[in-house]
Amino acid sequence: MRKRWSNWAGNQRATPQNWVKPRNLQEIATAVGEASAQGRKVKVIGSGHSFTGAAVAQDVLVDLSLMTGVISGPDADGVVEVEAGITLSALNEYLFLQGRALQNLGDISYQTVSGAISTGTHGTGVHIGGLAQQVVGLTLVDGTGNIVEIRESDDLLRFARVGVGALGVIGEIKIRTVPKFALHVEEKPMRLSYVLDNLEDLVDRNNHFEFFWIPHTKWALTKQNNRTDLPLQPIPRVKNWWQKSFLENTAFGMVCRLGKLFPSLIPKLATALPGSGSTSYVDDSFRVFASERKVKFVEMEYAIPHEHCRSALEDIERVIAEKSYKVSFPVEVRFTASDDNVLSTAHARQSTYIAVHMFKGSDYGPYFASVAEIMAKYEGRPHWGKMHFLTNEQLSRLYPQWTEFLEVRDRLDPHRTFHNEYLGQVFGE
Ligand SMILES: Cc1cc2nc3c(=O)[nH]c(=O)nc-3n(C[C@H](O)[C@H](O)[C@H](O)COP(=O)(O)OP(=O)(O)OC[C@H]3O[C@@H](n4cnc5c(N)ncnc54)[C@H](O)[C@@H]3O)c2cc1C
Repeated sequence: MRKRWSNWAGNQRATPQNWVKPRNLQEIATAVGEASAQGRKVKVIGSGHSFTGAAVAQDVLVDLSLMTGVISGPDADGVVEVEAGITLSALNEYLFLQGRALQNLGDISYQTVSGAISTGTHGTGVHIGGLAQQVVGLTLVDGTGNIVEIRESDDLLRFARVGVGALGVIGEIKIRTVPKFALHVEEKPMRLSYVLDNLEDLVDRNNHFEFFWIPHTKWALTKQNNRTDLPLQPIPRVKNWWQKSFLENTAFGMVCRLGKLFPSLIPKLATALPGSGSTSYVDDSFRVFASERKVKFVEMEYAIPHEHCRSALEDIERVIAEKSYKVSFPVEVRFTASDDNVLSTAHARQSTYIAVHMFKGSDYGPYFASVAEIMAKYEGRPHWGKMHFLTNEQLSRLYPQWTEFLEVRDRLDPHRTFHNEYLGQVFGE
């Protein structure tokens, strides 16, 4: 019987003909070369944390769970070389023991390094790019089974860092790290109007600022994380369990389930969220950035030019009210620097990321469609790993080097060995 694969959210599934677990680059090259010669399609999976069908394998599924080691480093420049299947959390632990850290992270660390960079995974921090921006070299197997090493000085790196799995199977990655650091965390509810009136100050003043606007209320939960030399003062264990495990997962999950059964209760339930109070603590950066996520959901996230943050949020607030959508998940808002990776959602523009979520099993379609319409108005670029409805034609207008990316794809994957339905949607063939 064939083994079945599904993603974290459970909205993408595959039953591939072959499930291969290479142990090194050469074995990846053999698997891809054979599949390509037989006209079969190959897809590599990471940790399955994308909501889109990006990792859905039709014929041959490449699973890098035997390629999770650190190859070398950190060297004198702080560069570490890893096998592509290593998870961010394993890398974080390794780096910590070496006195190093990743410069920034998203809000979980279950992803593989290769899966995270391939979809343009990012955290928050207006002066910092996404994770892919830290990659200074990688080695991939192209669509005909050739091993291609890409160095920092090669222009190809700007294409391959965020490759959406279309250019090859990445086997090894060189990634820049920084000396380990602690963050002083301040979490507190603020009026949404206050956040928007003081947005530039909050975003500029803090190393990492983000907020979660709670639909049906005028409140936002804010997080201000700043580098500090203060001694560590983690949240006490019991408080940590209460806040991060019970309130953010168990209790929140119950609220979501109740809201799914009785949607009309959601606006009332939402008013309880700002009451979760204020917290301040100091901890190692990787423990601060990444949280546990036990409540399952589907998510859509767009990057828009930073200057449109306020109007885009006001539009979302308006559409929720006008269409009477009942939304139990906060709208997450983050900020990053512009970068030069060709398919990075922050390519050549400082970006605000706006993410909407719906509890797993809820009817997300109409709400997400309305938000997508708003994002289109602001030239929003969808996260490659999160739900969206855009096609090749629309996407081509959002990325100045779209044609060049397609040319690189023609060169590295001339027979479309890495094709699947999702790549058909976004690249057109
Ligand atoms: C709970 C949750 C929280 C999240 N938080 C954030 C966040 O804070 N910020 C953010 O930006 N995103 C976030 N995401 C999205 C997530 O970071 C991305 O979808 C990421 O791609 C998932 O990594 P993965 O290892 O699970 O890869 P997968 O989802 O398994 O794969 C993603 C893509 O990468 C390709 N790929 C994987 N490995 C390779 C390889 N070796 N070579 C070539 N291609 C490869 C796959 O084929 C696929 O196209 C979150 C997702 C979830 C479910």
